[in-house]
Amino acid sequence: MTRPALLIFTDLDGTLLDHETYSHAEAAPALRALRAAGVPVILASSKTAAEIAPLRTELGLSAYPAIVENGAGRLEPDAEAPRTGGRYRALRSALSQVPAPLRSRFKGFGDGGTEWIAEVTGLAPEAAALAARRLYSEPGIWSGSETEKSAFLAALQAQGVSGREGGRFLTLSFGASKAGQMAEIAARYTTPFVVALGDAPNDREMLEQADQGFIIANPHRAPMPPLAGEETGRIQRIAAAGPKGWNLALRQVISDFGI
Ligand SMILES: [Mg+2]
Repeated sequence: MTRPALLIFTDLDGTLLDHETYSHAEAAPALRALRAAGVPVILASSKTAAEIAPLRTELGLSAYPAIVENGAGRLEPDAEAPRTGGRYRALRSALSQVPAPLRSRFKGFGDGGTEWIAEVTGLAPEAAALAARRLYSEPGIWSGSETEKSAFLAALQAQGVSGREGGRFLTLSFGASKAGQMAEIAARYTTPFVVALGDAPNDREMLEQADQGFIIANPHRAPMPPLAGEETGRIQRIAAAGPKGWNLALRQVISDFGI
């Protein structure tokens, strides 16, 4: 595989996609320049392979792999979303082992069903059905206290399940992270300069492991806590939110690299 000048790893919701409208329109100029220069843009999201596959096509990025379900799985280049495999059923059964008072505080996609998913995500019903096609992880809404959340996560941890907070959901999986997938994919491209973009704590390791990280502002959530690398400028905060911030950050990279 020829070595690209750089590699872009990007979160979707609240980063490349607007937190509320899911539009990527404002990212178009930078995206077009990166596509024209043959720079791989690798989508890394808590979304399912079924959701990412059509979006990846729409963005003209099907030649590149994508990181799905928060790093718990991968969508290979030019592949369709798989329908089987993964450990979703084992995850649901681990959830059912959690003591009822704690369990009742978490409403997962598998508990709510497609209509509820549409309601909490703001997705259209057809899109919500794709979000329900999970293989590796379970996002949900936490409605208890922080103390209860710690106890809930400890009960899951005992079964090998860990939780990660995204812009909107608490997502459970048997480990694996966007950062781990990022390292494996970068190795495929013989590890060029890696740029990562994200807006939430579930992007933290990805941002910290990249050669250059951008925290895109998300006014809908508490600001990201300080990350290792911000003091040196290796990680920068972009004041504009979503695709607008994405475009600004990557215009800067494009100009720095003379692409
Ligand atoms: Mg996000």
